[in-house]
Amino acid sequence: MNILITGGAGFLGTHLCRRLLKEKNRIICVDNFITGSRGNIKDLLKNPNFRLIEHDITRPLYIGGKIDWVMHFASPASPKDFPKYPIEIIKVGTLGTHNCLGIAKAKKAKFFLASSSEVYGDPKISPQPEEYCGNVNPIGERSCYDESKRAAEAMTFAYHRQHKIDIRVIRIFNSYGPNMRWDDGRVVSNFIVQALKGGDLTIYGRGLQTRSFCYVDDLIEGIVRYMKVDYPGPLNLGTAFEFTILELARKVIALTGSESKIKFLPMPADDPKQRRPDLKKAKKLFGWKPKVSLEQGLKKTIAWFRKELGLR
Ligand code: UDP
Repeated sequence: MNILITGGAGFLGTHLCRRLLKEKNRIICVDNFITGSRGNIKDLLKNPNFRLIEHDITRPLYIGGKIDWVMHFASPASPKDFPKYPIEIIKVGTLGTHNCLGIAKAKKAKFFLASSSEVYGDPKISPQPEEYCGNVNPIGERSCYDESKRAAEAMTFAYHRQHKIDIRVIRIFNSYGPNMRWDDGRVVSNFIVQALKGGDLTIYGRGLQTRSFCYVDDLIEGIVRYMKVDYPGPLNLGTAFEFTILELARKVIALTGSESKIKFLPMPADDPKQRRPDLKKAKKLFGWKPKVSLEQGLKKTIAWFRKELGLR
Protein backbone atom coordinates (compact mmCIF):
# COMPACT_ATOMS: atom_id res chain seq x y z
CA MET A 1 0.00 0.00 0.00
CA ASN A 2 0.99 3.65 -0.37
CA ILE A 3 0.80 5.26 3.05
CA LEU A 4 1.22 8.94 3.79
CA ILE A 5 2.31 9.61 7.39
CA THR A 6 2.42 13.15 8.72
CA GLY A 7 4.85 13.63 11.58
CA GLY A 8 6.73 10.67 10.12
CA ALA A 9 10.03 11.93 11.54
CA GLY A 10 8.65 12.30 15.06
CA PHE A 11 8.87 9.84 17.93
CA LEU A 12 5.87 7.68 17.05
CA GLY A 13 5.97 8.50 13.34
CA THR A 14 9.46 7.03 12.92
CA HIS A 15 8.49 3.76 14.56
CA LEU A 16 5.34 3.58 12.45
CA CYS A 17 7.25 4.25 9.19
CA ARG A 18 9.73 1.48 10.04
CA ARG A 19 7.05 -1.04 10.92
CA LEU A 20 4.98 -0.35 7.81
CA LEU A 21 8.07 -0.45 5.58
CA LYS A 22 8.85 -3.89 7.01
CA GLU A 23 5.40 -4.98 5.88
CA LYS A 24 6.32 -4.03 2.30
CA ASN A 25 4.39 -0.76 2.06
CA ARG A 26 5.59 2.45 0.41
CA ILE A 27 5.78 5.38 2.80
CA ILE A 28 5.48 9.07 2.11
CA CYS A 29 6.71 10.84 5.21
CA VAL A 30 5.56 14.44 5.65
CA ASP A 31 7.27 16.48 8.34
CA ASN A 32 8.25 20.10 8.89
CA PHE A 33 10.80 19.20 11.57
CA ILE A 34 9.46 21.55 14.26
CA THR A 35 9.86 18.69 16.70
CA GLY A 36 10.62 15.79 14.33
CA SER A 37 14.23 14.75 13.93
CA ARG A 38 16.28 14.26 10.78
CA GLY A 39 18.46 11.82 12.73
CA ASN A 40 15.42 9.57 13.30
CA ILE A 41 14.96 8.95 9.57
CA LYS A 42 18.50 9.29 8.23
CA ASP A 43 18.84 5.60 7.36
CA LEU A 44 15.32 5.44 5.91
CA LEU A 45 16.20 8.00 3.24
CA LYS A 46 18.21 5.27 1.48
CA ASN A 47 15.18 3.00 1.27
CA PRO A 48 13.54 3.20 -2.20
CA ASN A 49 10.13 2.67 -0.59
CA PHE A 50 10.54 5.73 1.62
CA ARG A 51 9.98 9.25 0.40
CA LEU A 52 10.33 12.41 2.48
CA ILE A 53 8.30 15.53 1.75
CA GLU A 54 9.44 18.42 3.92
CA HIS A 55 6.18 20.31 4.32
CA ASP A 56 4.03 22.00 6.93
CA ILE A 57 0.73 20.09 6.77
CA THR A 58 -1.20 23.13 7.98
CA ARG A 59 -0.79 24.23 4.34
CA PRO A 60 -2.47 22.27 1.54
CA LEU A 61 -0.45 19.47 -0.01
CA TYR A 62 -1.03 18.13 -3.50
CA ILE A 63 0.63 14.88 -4.45
CA GLY A 64 0.24 12.71 -7.52
CA GLY A 65 -0.38 8.99 -7.57
CA LYS A 66 -2.37 6.54 -5.55
CA ILE A 67 -2.62 6.78 -1.77
CA ASP A 68 -4.29 4.08 0.30
CA TRP A 69 -3.94 5.56 3.79
CA VAL A 70 -3.41 9.02 5.22
CA MET A 71 -2.15 8.75 8.78
CA HIS A 72 -2.06 12.05 10.66
CA PHE A 73 0.54 11.84 13.43
CA ALA A 74 1.98 15.36 13.18
CA SER A 75 1.91 17.58 16.27
CA PRO A 76 4.26 18.78 18.95
CA ALA A 77 3.03 16.65 21.85
CA SER A 78 5.06 17.37 24.95
CA PRO A 79 3.69 19.72 27.65
CA LYS A 80 7.00 21.55 27.27
CA ASP A 81 5.96 22.39 23.69
CA PHE A 82 2.57 23.78 24.73
CA PRO A 83 3.73 27.28 25.81
CA LYS A 84 6.32 27.36 23.01
CA TYR A 85 4.17 26.38 20.00
CA PRO A 86 0.50 26.87 21.00
CA ILE A 87 -0.57 28.26 17.62
CA GLU A 88 1.34 25.65 15.60
CA ILE A 89 -0.29 22.95 17.76
CA ILE A 90 -3.82 24.30 17.23
CA LYS A 91 -3.16 24.68 13.51
CA VAL A 92 -1.85 21.16 13.00
CA GLY A 93 -4.83 19.67 14.83
CA THR A 94 -7.39 21.74 12.94
CA LEU A 95 -6.04 22.96 9.57
CA GLY A 96 -3.62 20.02 9.39
CA THR A 97 -6.41 17.51 10.01
CA HIS A 98 -8.57 19.29 7.44
CA ASN A 99 -5.82 19.07 4.80
CA CYS A 100 -5.22 15.41 5.57
CA LEU A 101 -8.92 14.63 5.29
CA GLY A 102 -8.96 16.52 1.99
CA ILE A 103 -6.18 14.29 0.67
CA ALA A 104 -8.01 11.19 1.92
CA LYS A 105 -11.20 12.32 0.20
CA ALA A 106 -9.48 13.18 -3.10
CA LYS A 107 -7.54 9.90 -3.15
CA LYS A 108 -10.38 7.75 -1.79
CA ALA A 109 -7.96 6.75 0.93
CA LYS A 110 -8.61 5.66 4.48
CA PHE A 111 -7.80 8.16 7.21
CA PHE A 112 -6.11 7.40 10.53
CA LEU A 113 -6.04 10.04 13.26
CA ALA A 114 -3.56 9.97 16.13
CA SER A 115 -5.62 11.59 18.85
CA SER A 116 -4.72 11.62 22.50
CA SER A 117 -5.77 10.78 26.03
CA GLU A 118 -5.57 14.56 26.46
CA VAL A 119 -9.13 14.73 25.10
CA TYR A 120 -10.13 13.50 28.58
CA GLY A 121 -8.33 16.46 30.21
CA ASP A 122 -8.06 16.05 33.99
CA PRO A 123 -10.47 13.09 34.15
CA LYS A 124 -13.03 12.75 36.88
CA ILE A 125 -13.36 9.00 36.37
CA SER A 126 -10.78 6.25 36.22
CA PRO A 127 -10.05 4.27 34.14
CA GLN A 128 -11.23 6.35 31.19
CA PRO A 129 -13.49 4.53 28.69
CA GLU A 130 -13.93 5.92 25.18
CA GLU A 131 -17.48 7.07 26.07
CA TYR A 132 -16.15 9.49 28.70
CA CYS A 133 -16.42 13.05 27.35
CA GLY A 134 -13.63 14.53 29.44
CA ASN A 135 -12.93 17.47 31.69
CA VAL A 136 -10.92 20.03 29.71
CA ASN A 137 -10.10 23.63 30.53
CA PRO A 138 -10.67 25.33 27.14
CA ILE A 139 -8.31 28.22 27.83
CA GLY A 140 -5.56 26.69 29.96
CA GLU A 141 -1.94 26.19 28.87
CA ARG A 142 -2.68 22.64 27.78
CA SER A 143 -5.80 23.65 25.86
CA CYS A 144 -3.93 24.23 22.59
CA TYR A 145 -3.23 20.50 22.49
CA ASP A 146 -6.36 19.14 24.20
CA GLU A 147 -8.82 21.21 22.22
CA SER A 148 -7.03 20.76 18.90
CA LYS A 149 -7.18 16.98 19.34
CA ARG A 150 -10.86 17.27 20.24
CA ALA A 151 -11.46 19.42 17.14
CA ALA A 152 -9.44 16.93 15.05
CA GLU A 153 -11.72 14.13 16.22
CA ALA A 154 -14.83 16.20 15.49
CA MET A 155 -13.59 17.03 11.98
CA THR A 156 -12.68 13.40 11.31
CA PHE A 157 -16.14 12.21 12.31
CA ALA A 158 -17.73 15.00 10.24
CA TYR A 159 -15.87 13.75 7.14
CA HIS A 160 -16.84 10.21 8.02
CA ARG A 161 -20.51 11.13 8.26
CA GLN A 162 -20.73 13.61 5.42
CA HIS A 163 -18.24 12.17 2.90
CA LYS A 164 -18.25 8.54 4.04
CA ILE A 165 -14.49 8.54 4.57
CA ASP A 166 -13.28 5.32 6.15
CA ILE A 167 -11.67 6.42 9.41
CA ARG A 168 -9.78 5.12 12.44
CA VAL A 169 -9.30 7.30 15.52
CA ILE A 170 -6.97 6.33 18.36
CA ARG A 171 -6.47 8.03 21.67
CA ILE A 172 -2.86 7.49 22.62
CA PHE A 173 -1.95 7.37 26.30
CA ASN A 174 1.56 8.09 27.59
CA SER A 175 4.04 6.21 25.46
CA TYR A 176 7.82 6.07 25.58
CA GLY A 177 10.83 4.38 24.04
CA PRO A 178 13.81 4.96 21.77
CA ASN A 179 13.73 7.98 19.43
CA MET A 180 12.20 10.32 22.01
CA ARG A 181 13.95 13.66 22.05
CA TRP A 182 16.29 13.69 25.04
CA ASP A 183 15.16 17.24 25.85
CA ASP A 184 11.46 16.92 25.00
CA GLY A 185 10.56 17.55 28.64
CA ARG A 186 8.34 14.52 29.10
CA VAL A 187 8.64 12.61 32.31
CA VAL A 188 10.25 9.40 31.05
CA SER A 189 12.94 11.09 28.96
CA ASN A 190 13.54 13.74 31.64
CA PHE A 191 14.02 11.20 34.43
CA ILE A 192 16.26 8.89 32.38
CA VAL A 193 18.49 11.72 31.16
CA GLN A 194 18.65 13.26 34.65
CA ALA A 195 19.53 9.88 36.21
CA LEU A 196 22.16 9.06 33.59
CA LYS A 197 23.80 12.45 33.97
CA GLY A 198 23.65 12.26 37.77
CA GLY A 199 21.38 15.31 38.16
CA ASP A 200 18.36 15.54 40.44
CA LEU A 201 15.14 14.00 39.13
CA THR A 202 12.57 16.78 38.91
CA ILE A 203 9.16 15.76 40.22
CA TYR A 204 6.38 18.28 39.65
CA GLY A 205 4.08 18.51 42.67
CA ARG A 206 4.34 15.69 45.24
CA GLY A 207 4.60 13.03 42.56
CA LEU A 208 1.28 11.44 43.48
CA GLN A 209 -0.26 12.08 40.07
CA THR A 210 -0.45 8.89 38.01
CA ARG A 211 0.22 7.88 34.42
CA SER A 212 0.10 4.54 32.59
CA PHE A 213 3.17 4.10 30.41
CA CYS A 214 3.10 2.12 27.18
CA TYR A 215 6.27 0.96 25.44
CA VAL A 216 6.33 2.14 21.84
CA ASP A 217 6.49 -1.36 20.25
CA ASP A 218 3.23 -2.33 21.94
CA LEU A 219 1.56 0.84 20.74
CA ILE A 220 2.71 0.36 17.14
CA GLU A 221 1.45 -3.25 17.21
CA GLY A 222 -1.94 -1.93 18.34
CA ILE A 223 -2.00 0.63 15.53
CA VAL A 224 -1.13 -1.89 12.82
CA ARG A 225 -3.75 -4.35 14.05
CA TYR A 226 -6.39 -1.63 14.27
CA MET A 227 -5.78 -0.62 10.65
CA LYS A 228 -7.14 -4.02 9.64
CA VAL A 229 -10.35 -3.73 11.65
CA ASP A 230 -13.42 -1.97 10.33
CA TYR A 231 -14.27 0.32 13.27
CA PRO A 232 -14.13 4.12 13.17
CA GLY A 233 -13.24 4.54 16.84
CA PRO A 234 -12.38 6.34 18.95
CA LEU A 235 -10.18 3.70 20.51
CA ASN A 236 -7.91 3.96 23.55
CA LEU A 237 -4.38 2.56 23.15
CA GLY A 238 -1.97 2.41 26.06
CA THR A 239 -1.40 0.25 29.13
CA ALA A 240 -3.46 -0.29 32.23
CA PHE A 241 -0.39 -0.38 34.49
CA GLU A 242 -0.80 2.82 36.45
CA PHE A 243 2.10 4.29 38.42
CA THR A 244 2.62 7.45 40.41
CA ILE A 245 5.34 9.75 39.12
CA LEU A 246 7.20 9.15 42.38
CA GLU A 247 7.18 5.40 41.71
CA LEU A 248 8.48 6.05 38.21
CA ALA A 249 11.32 8.20 39.56
CA ARG A 250 12.35 5.47 42.02
CA LYS A 251 12.25 2.84 39.27
CA VAL A 252 14.43 4.92 36.95
CA ILE A 253 16.97 5.55 39.73
CA ALA A 254 17.10 1.83 40.54
CA LEU A 255 17.37 0.69 36.91
CA THR A 256 20.09 3.18 36.00
CA GLY A 257 22.02 2.53 39.23
CA SER A 258 22.19 6.29 39.57
CA GLU A 259 23.06 8.23 42.71
CA SER A 260 20.65 10.98 41.71
CA LYS A 261 18.30 12.45 44.30
CA ILE A 262 14.71 13.62 43.84
CA LYS A 263 13.85 17.31 43.72
CA PHE A 264 10.24 18.54 44.09
CA LEU A 265 9.15 21.45 41.88
CA PRO A 266 5.79 23.24 41.56
CA MET A 267 3.01 21.44 39.73
CA PRO A 268 2.15 22.87 36.28
CA ALA A 269 -1.41 24.19 35.77
CA ASP A 270 -4.11 21.70 34.75
CA ASP A 271 -1.76 18.73 35.08
CA PRO A 272 -4.05 15.66 35.05
CA LYS A 273 -4.05 13.92 38.46
CA GLN A 274 -4.65 10.46 37.06
CA ARG A 275 -4.61 8.74 33.74
CA ARG A 276 -5.38 5.15 32.88
CA PRO A 277 -7.10 3.83 29.79
CA ASP A 278 -9.97 1.41 29.75
CA LEU A 279 -8.66 -1.01 27.10
CA LYS A 280 -11.61 -3.38 26.79
CA LYS A 281 -12.56 -2.18 23.34
CA ALA A 282 -9.14 -2.78 21.73
CA LYS A 283 -8.96 -6.19 23.38
CA LYS A 284 -12.40 -7.15 22.11
CA LEU A 285 -11.87 -5.82 18.57
CA PHE A 286 -8.47 -7.39 17.81
CA GLY A 287 -7.27 -9.19 20.90
CA TRP A 288 -4.60 -6.62 21.61
CA LYS A 289 -2.95 -6.25 24.98
CA PRO A 290 0.40 -4.59 25.71
CA LYS A 291 3.14 -7.09 26.52
CA VAL A 292 6.12 -5.05 27.65
CA SER A 293 6.29 -4.31 31.39
CA LEU A 294 7.40 -0.89 32.59
CA GLU A 295 10.64 -2.40 33.84
CA GLN A 296 11.45 -4.11 30.50
CA GLY A 297 10.53 -1.00 28.52
CA LEU A 298 12.55 1.29 30.76
CA LYS A 299 15.60 -0.97 30.45
CA LYS A 300 15.44 -0.79 26.65
CA THR A 301 14.87 2.97 26.70
CA ILE A 302 17.70 3.56 29.19
CA ALA A 303 20.07 1.53 26.99
CA TRP A 304 19.07 3.61 23.95
CA PHE A 305 19.54 6.92 25.80
CA ARG A 306 22.94 5.79 27.12
CA LYS A 307 24.10 5.24 23.55
CA GLU A 308 22.42 8.40 22.27
CA LEU A 309 24.09 10.55 24.93
CA GLY A 310 27.45 8.84 24.37
CA LEU A 311 27.52 7.45 27.94
CA ARG A 312 28.89 4.05 28.93
N1 UDP B 1 6.56 15.38 35.32
C1 UDP B 1 7.42 15.46 36.40
N2 UDP B 1 8.72 15.78 36.15
C2 UDP B 1 9.22 16.00 34.91
C3 UDP B 1 8.34 15.93 33.81
C4 UDP B 1 6.99 15.62 34.06
O1 UDP B 1 7.04 15.24 37.54
O2 UDP B 1 10.43 16.29 34.79
C5 UDP B 1 5.16 15.00 35.57
C6 UDP B 1 4.12 15.94 34.94
O3 UDP B 1 3.80 16.99 35.84
C7 UDP B 1 2.97 14.99 34.72
C8 UDP B 1 3.64 13.64 34.45
O4 UDP B 1 4.95 13.76 34.95
O5 UDP B 1 2.19 14.88 35.90
C9 UDP B 1 3.68 13.26 32.99
O6 UDP B 1 4.19 14.36 32.30
P1 UDP B 1 4.56 14.32 30.75
O7 UDP B 1 5.18 15.64 30.44
O8 UDP B 1 5.36 13.13 30.44
O9 UDP B 1 3.20 14.18 29.95
P2 UDP B 1 1.64 14.34 30.28
O10 UDP B 1 1.19 12.99 30.68
O11 UDP B 1 1.43 15.34 31.39
O12 UDP B 1 1.07 14.79 29.00
